[in-house]
Amino acid sequence: MMLDTSRRTAFTEDHEAFRASVRKFFERELIPHLDRWEADGIIDRAFWTKAGKAGLLCPTVPEGYGGPGLDFGFNAVIDEELAYAGSTAGITLHSDIVADYVIAYGSEEQKAHWLPRMVSGETATAIAMTEPGAGSDLQGIRTTARRDGNHYVLNGSKTYITNGQHADLTIVVAKTDAALGAKGVSLILVEANREGYARGRNLDKIGFHSQDTSELFFSDLRVPITNCLGAEGQGFAYLMNQLPQERLSIACAAQAAAQRAFDEAVAFTKGRKAFGRTVFDFQNTKFTLADLAARLQVGWAHLDWAIARHIAGALTAAEASAAKLWHTELQWDACDASLQLHGGAGYMNEYPIARLWRDARVTRIFGGTNEIMKEVVSRAI
Ligand SMILES: Cc1cc2nc3c(=O)[nH]c(=O)nc-3n(C[C@H](O)[C@H](O)[C@H](O)COP(=O)(O)OP(=O)(O)OC[C@H]3O[C@@H](n4cnc5c(N)ncnc54)[C@H](O)[C@@H]3O)c2cc1C
Repeated sequence: MMLDTSRRTAFTEDHEAFRASVRKFFERELIPHLDRWEADGIIDRAFWTKAGKAGLLCPTVPEGYGGPGLDFGFNAVIDEELAYAGSTAGITLHSDIVADYVIAYGSEEQKAHWLPRMVSGETATAIAMTEPGAGSDLQGIRTTARRDGNHYVLNGSKTYITNGQHADLTIVVAKTDAALGAKGVSLILVEANREGYARGRNLDKIGFHSQDTSELFFSDLRVPITNCLGAEGQGFAYLMNQLPQERLSIACAAQAAAQRAFDEAVAFTKGRKAFGRTVFDFQNTKFTLADLAARLQVGWAHLDWAIARHIAGALTAAEASAAKLWHTELQWDACDASLQLHGGAGYMNEYPIARLWRDARVTRIFGGTNEIMKEVVSRAI
């Protein structure tokens, strides 16, 4: 099964040539391992370095820092192909979110040190905002980074952190001055080999089984003040600035997963017989699929608009939030309807729709819940 890109408008020939190489790489290095990784609750660490070697990590990193210096369209290609393949590997968070924080706010030294390692996959990364007591309301975080001479001393804990088991480097959102509210929030680069750093367990989730998601604990963890990413106290502003790309990245994956669910339902219903005809021949099936086909058509057109607008630097936070909201709702509707059309087979893990369905549930929650997306969209009205 292959994602049909013949009617897309956001991509150039270069993007499509890249897509062909991404597919080949996934056929060889991802798809044969998917079931084992799902059972293990984590992907092989070697996948990171293989993806790096194949040029699939951090497309936007400039050539001067070991990257290919490409536009976000290349990230979008990877996001779509990964989701269509039915994988939730955390390489897209590394490439679409963490890399661009380092590119945008990193010091020369930080960029020269970390970016080449992120491109090669030698360094796997994470970003830790959420805490047991604060998710949507990020101003309520309690992790502190107290100045002590030329160091920060970090104390606190984070939860639900994607790549939490694999990450060698994490951008930790911490309060450098609790009295200042949002203006007292900073982004601190924390290496996993520092004393006082502890990983919790790999969390047991409904879906996203092959993505490691963890708690992280910091106890009197010391990092030099040069580990501050950008200016102290600007963390909240940086988080807001980077939101469009994070949310667009989720929208790309959601749309592709919705398409895969639809394609699975078409293939299944055309092959399955009941009452002397194929399940596809029932009007209910045809109308359900026609409705989804119409929404998918609209979705691809919208996604192309959003990708092109983001490459041009014009996508606003409200527009990206609307995209995340809409495409993840479509993903859920498509996965749920497609599973129903499979009958009992849809509930069996041997059918791809089962995994697509359980993995779809979280996309309306992470990257900001869809209720928060509505808040952001409504502020722009
Ligand atoms: C698989 C997975 C991976 C994740 N990866 C990461 C990661 O890598 N890094 C990271 O930092 N976080 C990560 N998260 C955390 C995720 O971003 C948060 O779970 C999410 O933002 C919601 O926060 P919360 O869980 O604290 O829910 P809460 O904020 O407690 O929300 C509970 C409910 O209240 C609603 N609500 C809250 N505020 C409002 C409001 N103002 N108006 C209306 N309704 C509201 C919410 O929409 C939700 O329905 C991940 C989560 C999951 C499940």
